[in-house]
Amino acid sequence: MADLLLEKFLRYVQIDTQSDENSTSFPSTDQQKTLLSLLLQELQAMGVPQAAMDEHGYVMARIPSNLSKPAPALGFIAHVDTSPDMSGKDVHPQFVENYDGKDIVLNADKHIVLGVDEFPELKQYVGQTLITTDGTTLLGADDKAGVAEIMTAVEHILQHPEIPHGDLCIAFTPDEEIGRGVDFFDVKKLGAAYAYTVDGGQIGELEYENFNAASAKIFVQGKNIHPGYAKNKMVNALHVAKEFDALLPPAERPEHTQDYEGFFHLVHCSGEVEKAQLHYIVRDHNRSKFEHRKQVIEQCAHYLNTRYGKGTVSVELKDQYYNMREQVEPHYHIVQNAIAAMERVGVQPLIHPIRGGTDGARLSFMGLPCPNLFAGGHNFHGKYEFIPVASMHKAVEVLLQLVNIYAGE
Ligand SMILES: [Zn+2]
Repeated sequence: MADLLLEKFLRYVQIDTQSDENSTSFPSTDQQKTLLSLLLQELQAMGVPQAAMDEHGYVMARIPSNLSKPAPALGFIAHVDTSPDMSGKDVHPQFVENYDGKDIVLNADKHIVLGVDEFPELKQYVGQTLITTDGTTLLGADDKAGVAEIMTAVEHILQHPEIPHGDLCIAFTPDEEIGRGVDFFDVKKLGAAYAYTVDGGQIGELEYENFNAASAKIFVQGKNIHPGYAKNKMVNALHVAKEFDALLPPAERPEHTQDYEGFFHLVHCSGEVEKAQLHYIVRDHNRSKFEHRKQVIEQCAHYLNTRYGKGTVSVELKDQYYNMREQVEPHYHIVQNAIAAMERVGVQPLIHPIRGGTDGARLSFMGLPCPNLFAGGHNFHGKYEFIPVASMHKAVEVLLQLVNIYAGE
C-alpha cells in the first residue's frame, strides 16, 4: 500500500490543475479535466463497478454494499484543482528523508527556505519523510493528497473483498479553490447519506464548523461642486466612505480576530468626489451574530443618510454561505464516527472552527451533511506547502476505519 499512495500523489501533482476565478466556463480550466479523466480511468481499471464523468467534469463512482443488512451510504469527496494564488505547473516535489528538525532549503539558487522559526509545526515531524516544493510552485497537496488518499482506500477495498462495507460513494470535483466546486454537484446522483471531504490540513484535523458569510457593497453618491463655491453644498463621497468605514468596530477586523471571533473586512475601496464604493466581506460562526453584523452595516448607512440626505449611501448585501454546524449537529454521530476512526488508528483529533468556507459546508446545506477530514498537508496555496508521508498514510487508515464504522463493525 505504501508505494501505491505515493505513486498516485506524485502522478497527480504532475498535472497542472490550477483553477481560474476570471474564467466563465465550468470547470474554469480545461486542465482540470485531464486529471478528472485520469481518475476515471484509474477507477475503472481498479474495477470500480460504477464510475462516470458528467458533462460538468464531476467524477462520481459507487462501490455497492457487500453487507446483508442495510447500512448508510458513505461518501468521500476531494477536489482536483489547485489555488490560483500560485502556479501549479511543473511541480518538482522534493523529498526530505529522516527530517532533522532544521530549516529546509527549498531552492538554494533563489534562497528560498522553509524555516523552523516561521513554521514551528515542522518540529513535530522530526524523523519523518516530508515532501516539499522546489520553491517555485505550490505542491498541490491541497487537495491531491486527499484525492490520492481516497483512491488508495478504494483500491484497498477492491483488493480485499472480505472487508465489509456499505455503499461507498466517491466524488472528485473541480473549482473548489474559486468557490464554485459544488455549483453543479448532483447530491442525489452521488447517493450518499453522509460524506466527508478529505481536504483539511495537518494530521488530526476534523472540521464541521465554518463561517457564515456575506458580501456587502456600499455605494456612496456624493455631490460634486466646484470647490470654490462648495460651501454648504458639496458632499464628498470619499469622506462619507471614510466615515462609513470608521463607524465599523476597528477591533473586529481579520487582523485582530481569531477562533470564533467574526469580522468586517474591507477588501476594496474606490471612488472620487461624486461617487465612491466600499466592498466588505462579513463573517461570523454564530448565525445570530452574523445577522446582527449585517444589521450594523444597514444602520451605518441609515445614520449617514440621516446626516447627508436620503440616497447618499446604499447597501447591497449578499449571503454567500452558512455554517455547516447547523446541518451537521442533527447528525452529530458523523462527527463522533470521525473521532472514533482517528482514535482507532492512534490519531489525536484536532477540532477547530474553519475561518472560511468549504465545499462540504455548501453540500451540507444541499442535503448532504459533510464534515472535513485532514489530508495531511501544511501551508496550502504557496511555495511553502509540504506534506509528511506518514500523515497521508494515516489519512487512508482513517478512511478505512470510517468504512468499517459505517458498516456497523
Ligand atoms: Zn482544498
